[in-house]
Amino acid sequence: MAKQIAIYGKGGIGKSSTASNVAAACADEGYRVTIIGCDPKSDSSITLLRGRRIPTIMDLMRQGVDIREEDIVFDGYKGVKCVEIGGPEPGIGCAGRGIIVAISLLKKTSKAIEDTDLVIYDVPGDIVCGGFVAPVKKGLVSEAYVLTSGEYMPLYAANNICKGLSRLEMPLNGVICNSRGAPNEEAIVSEFAKEIGSQLLAFIPKDVLVQTCEREGFSVVEKEPGSAIAAVYRKLARSIMTKSDARVPEPLDDARLRELTKI
Ligand code: ADP
Ligand code: MG
Repeated sequence: MAKQIAIYGKGGIGKSSTASNVAAACADEGYRVTIIGCDPKSDSSITLLRGRRIPTIMDLMRQGVDIREEDIVFDGYKGVKCVEIGGPEPGIGCAGRGIIVAISLLKKTSKAIEDTDLVIYDVPGDIVCGGFVAPVKKGLVSEAYVLTSGEYMPLYAANNICKGLSRLEMPLNGVICNSRGAPNEEAIVSEFAKEIGSQLLAFIPKDVLVQTCEREGFSVVEKEPGSAIAAVYRKLARSIMTKSDARVPEPLDDARLRELTKI
């Protein structure tokens, strides 16, 4: 049975960059990987495909065409299977419902979810939207990771995600810090992880290489494998593949969260 993980976090915090670099690092280690972008931005797999945008399942469904595997599953870096669910039309439709319908279509047409070692769901960070709950409720996700920096807003979102996970009784496998360069960031995120009953799995430094490689259509793992940040992604990938320490998180109250950002 494939490991099925979801990476949660506030919009713009670095979920897609982390997901695609972890996917590339796992592919380097010989794992068969599938990445499923569930965010309407549909940019989860773009750096595994040399900058190419692939059609989204939702767009194809809206066109009413007969969908085959080769229309929605694309081979990226070292054979990583790339799928983009896409999003509902702004203002109408529900992302959660769309994700469920799209994934059942994917399962019907392709073995990309079953016949693999790791499935990474890159999910939207907005907790109030159905996109968050759908993959968990449908039993598609067996491991959850939350990505945050040490700033208040992303931590607030991370804590909210933990509220959601706790309500769904979904265990959290770890917290990942994607640094924004805020003071004391590693200590803050590490303390947050500890207080919610989890652990800090990785501290990803802020590095312009992530952006320059992304602009050219690559992950840093592919384009700059010798860089320090590529080594950080490889280490994170290894701990995702080997560790399985998970507990339902205990979210903090807002006063404590605010205090935390001041250490
Ligand atoms: P999300 O998927 O959470 O919305 P993205 O992965 O698209 O966020 O990242 C948002 C922006 O931040 C991107 O331009 C990306 O290149 C940049 N970014 C992500 N992680 C890092 C990092 N560690 N260092 C520098 N830039 C980063
Ligand atoms: Mg994204």
